[in-house]
Amino acid sequence: MVAVVLDGKALAAAQETAFSERVAAIKESGRGRTPILATILVGADPASETYVRMKGDACRRVGMDSIKVELPSSTSTQGLIDEIKHLNSNPDVHGILLQHPVPSQIEERVCFDTINLEKDVDGVTSNGFGLMSMGEFAYGSATPAGIMRLLSHYECEIEGLSAVVVGRSPILGKPMAMMLLQANATVTICHSRTENLADFISRADLVVGAVGKPQFIQSDWIKDNAIVVDAGYHPGGIGDIDLNGLPERVRAYTPVPGGVGPMTINTLILQAIQAAEKKIC
Ligand code: NAP
Repeated sequence: MVAVVLDGKALAAAQETAFSERVAAIKESGRGRTPILATILVGADPASETYVRMKGDACRRVGMDSIKVELPSSTSTQGLIDEIKHLNSNPDVHGILLQHPVPSQIEERVCFDTINLEKDVDGVTSNGFGLMSMGEFAYGSATPAGIMRLLSHYECEIEGLSAVVVGRSPILGKPMAMMLLQANATVTICHSRTENLADFISRADLVVGAVGKPQFIQSDWIKDNAIVVDAGYHPGGIGDIDLNGLPERVRAYTPVPGGVGPMTINTLILQAIQAAEKKIC
């Protein structure tokens, strides 16, 4: 068997062409008003700086603008809340991205939940998570929503599959599990206290690695014909799953890099465009 490569890089690039057309249409119907994503970066973490820059670059590629808010690492929770409220009330801003993680003195959850639901295009609010989990509309958390778009594009049928999500973070593992449940998978969430992790994974038709540990999930834990999604990314271009030998025996897999990562930014941009369409068109 030769596995299908779930090529997020190619899909994201192809989608950007369509996004540019949608942005052009928004500008036309809004008499020149441009969709704007506001990004907030607190502190000077090099990886976060890179991600924020990549998000701004993606905006420009499709004709959107971005406003970059940069705050010192000493910023307080209240200081960040004030900035978010300022952006919430700015009618020119259609989406808000608060780059995660924020410095440890900040209560991140409170700040995420300050973002107006209609501007929560990165899908980080508790309210958005709750609505999505209930099958109601909310912008999805960008990484899992990007994974769902990737699986859908490659016609990976989810219904009825036994899915194992390894990781339960608020921005990745938990929303991933709820999205797979919405798509009628039977979902197991594993985490750091899970016993016999390999047993759970060995029974899974679909495995999502969202652990944050390089090549932590062993390739020989994964059964033949499974669909393998690696959300992890570590220096050197490796993920959370050891992909060795898998392309010869699984149904489909995401490469690292070039699988999940590009779909995350692409989904953020898509959702910012959707938010702008609701306000402008
Ligand atoms: P996180 O907040 O650190 O969460 C990691 C999760 O893994 C936690 O739920 C933790 O369980 C679980 N875990 C840790 N050790 C484990 C073990 N031994 N066995 C089973 N589960 C274990 O990380 P995250 O933000 O979700 O990110 C996960 C990965 O995705 C990272 O590699 C990150 O770089 C990547 N990521 C990629 C993108 C993208 O755009 N491609 C976006 C976000 C994140 P507990 O809850 O019990 O601690």
